Amino acid sequence: ITVAAPREPAPETRVALVPEVVAALVRAGYRVLVEAGAGVAAHYDDDSYRAAGADVVPAVDLAEVDVLAHVSPLPAAALARLREGAVTVGLDAPLDDEERLRAANGRRVTMLAFERLPRTSRAQAMDVLSSQALAAGYRAVLEAAVRLPRFFPLAMTAAGTVPPAKVVVLGVGVAGLQAIATARRLGAKVAANDIRPDSAEEVRSVGATFIDVGIDPAAGSGAGGYARELAATAGERQQAALAPHVADADVLITTAAVPGRRAPLLVTGDMVAAMRPGSVVVDLAAASGGNVEGSTPGTDVTVPSSRGGGPVTIVGLGSAPSDLPTDSSRLFAKNVANVVALLTDADGALSVPLDDDIVAGMALTHDGTTRGADGAAVPA
Ligand code: NAD
Repeated sequence: ITVAAPREPAPETRVALVPEVVAALVRAGYRVLVEAGAGVAAHYDDDSYRAAGADVVPAVDLAEVDVLAHVSPLPAAALARLREGAVTVGLDAPLDDEERLRAANGRRVTMLAFERLPRTSRAQAMDVLSSQALAAGYRAVLEAAVRLPRFFPLAMTAAGTVPPAKVVVLGVGVAGLQAIATARRLGAKVAANDIRPDSAEEVRSVGATFIDVGIDPAAGSGAGGYARELAATAGERQQAALAPHVADADVLITTAAVPGRRAPLLVTGDMVAAMRPGSVVVDLAAASGGNVEGSTPGTDVTVPSSRGGGPVTIVGLGSAPSDLPTDSSRLFAKNVANVVALLTDADGALSVPLDDDIVAGMALTHDGTTRGADGAAVPA
């Protein structure tokens, strides 16, 4: 089986295969092709791929690839050049891009989309959304810490005592939990809220205080361990209950998401303005609609504090995993290699086992047809 990784288009800095994972694939009998320069932005040079056993080529001949691993969605033109029956593994959003789906189906290419991976324990080793959310949660706290005009930790010195920063985290999935852990390591006092029933226990287990907003647990619990969109009244009640906690925070980090929907608006402009001057808000959902009114992906926005004394800064994080490309790529590549193992039959040949719930779940296209989230063919 030939596995390949292209050079990703800018501004993406991650790469779908790293030398360490290439070495493991080559040891297991795979042939690996890597486009020259593919790892440069993530600080993996061509020589390190060669040393790991990859063929580093000026341009990957797509006609000889069995499995093409990628970070950003592949252009339709690349899908159309793959050999019949090849498989792609990577991030594919938006999943309903007709041009790409048509190009893949035209070549009977199986597109395996990480966005469609089932959230089961067996799938955790392949969960790109989780591995990349880790980077996002970590990075969000660092971005806040460098902008905050105060310390995170308690400091007791001869010159007096500095109290610890107060951090509030809204949305406690993979990114939120990592944000809590990172803020705690820096010495902050952390409180957090989520609407999934299990989240209170998860928040306490990582040493933060749970903010109870009095929402019926059933209202926030959706399918597959994800959250569900709250009814408008529950959303308003949540905002009102969160307002005093937000007003008292030095740092607010928001990560709330509902699969397939616009991110819920949790924090209004008035709630931001009620924060102390110098406070920092980091919105990890900025690119998917924003949890915070006024946040803009990739830039800082300032809002005057109604308490006087200067503005509150809202940081709209762009792609945090791409800001940590070395480790984000390492985790991504491990996730990819675990999917490749599922595509390998007992004789070491390529197979697409649709009786495997992970492969079936991820398959966006197969054998010339587009597949819905339920696995059924989507009428053209
Ligand atoms: P996500 O990125 O979809 O959403 C982030 C968080 O926002 C979630 O915890 C969600 O409950 C929360 N949220 C949504 N609406 C909200 C609102 N109005 N107010 C407050 N919070 C809101 O979630 P995720 O990080 O992918 O994880 C979701 C769950 O899935 C977690 O329990 C996680 O542990 C679990 N998970 C399981 C697996 C697995 O078993 N393979 C993998 C990853 C995550």
